[in-house]
Amino acid sequence: MAAHFALLIDPAAPDDLRDDFAATFTALDPSAPALSVSELSTQRGDGIFESIGVVDGHPQEVAAHLERLAHSAALCDLPAPHLGQWRQAVERAAAACGAGESVIKLILSRGVEHGPAPTAWATAARAADNTGVRERGIRVVLLDRGIDSGAADRAPWLLLGAKTLSYAVNMAAIREAHRRGADDAVFVSSDGILLEAPTASLILQLGERFVTPAVGSGILHGTTQISVFEHVAAQGHPTAYEIVPAEKLRTVDAAWLVSSVRLAAPITAVDGVGIPTDRELTASLNRYLLSPRD
Ligand code: PLP
Repeated sequence: MAAHFALLIDPAAPDDLRDDFAATFTALDPSAPALSVSELSTQRGDGIFESIGVVDGHPQEVAAHLERLAHSAALCDLPAPHLGQWRQAVERAAAACGAGESVIKLILSRGVEHGPAPTAWATAARAADNTGVRERGIRVVLLDRGIDSGAADRAPWLLLGAKTLSYAVNMAAIREAHRRGADDAVFVSSDGILLEAPTASLILQLGERFVTPAVGSGILHGTTQISVFEHVAAQGHPTAYEIVPAEKLRTVDAAWLVSSVRLAAPITAVDGVGIPTDRELTASLNRYLLSPRD
């Protein structure tokens, strides 16, 4: 949905000692043009972003999102973000969100071509209504990502663990899933290992255990997955990051795609074949994910 709030951020150096970064923020008209046509974010997708869920004005897991923004910046050789400054930008954006669910986006771009500095901005918008998907669930297809699970280590320039603005491939995978009669995709490495979805992390329930694909294989470390693991661990369930063969997804007790805005969407079928779901557990995970989390 269209943004109802936008803030241009003049990025501060990481060692800036100010307590108040108001002077570095410029409120923008979210419906008016704001970026230079020479922006490398639009020309090359050269930049990074975060999407933060907001519930009734409370931005969820801000520290984890800012940590990942810093991690993505390091992988992309972008200047380290000043986390205090970005936190204040998030607070401003959250103050512009009313009741219900919203999404704050943080964007740090390489800037304009030959320009002196990166461009940074934050937006806030109403979130799409995901209630149906959380209850009804989603059918997924397994899609080959075309790279093996060792590629992240061997070829760091692929930026596999960074949340970059280059999501064209991820969007193409979702379109392919739709062509195959499913709602979403789960990427599999060329050596047959489960990875992640184009916009979500994968969590499997195997008996009492909750398992997610190991982050080292070139996937994003999801803030929602971390939160779900803390929640189920507090209830006594063992949790683990593992290398999981693709076939395992067909023999789970339950599985979910989890992300900051859609939250926990139960997987109902893999490549057209049904898998078990747990309605009660899914509802309790989403209740937890909708409660204020820091
Ligand atoms: N993996 C990918 C590729 C994503 O794009 C996302 C979120 O957009 C996630 C995982 C889940 O991350 P988070 O839970 O922090 O939203």
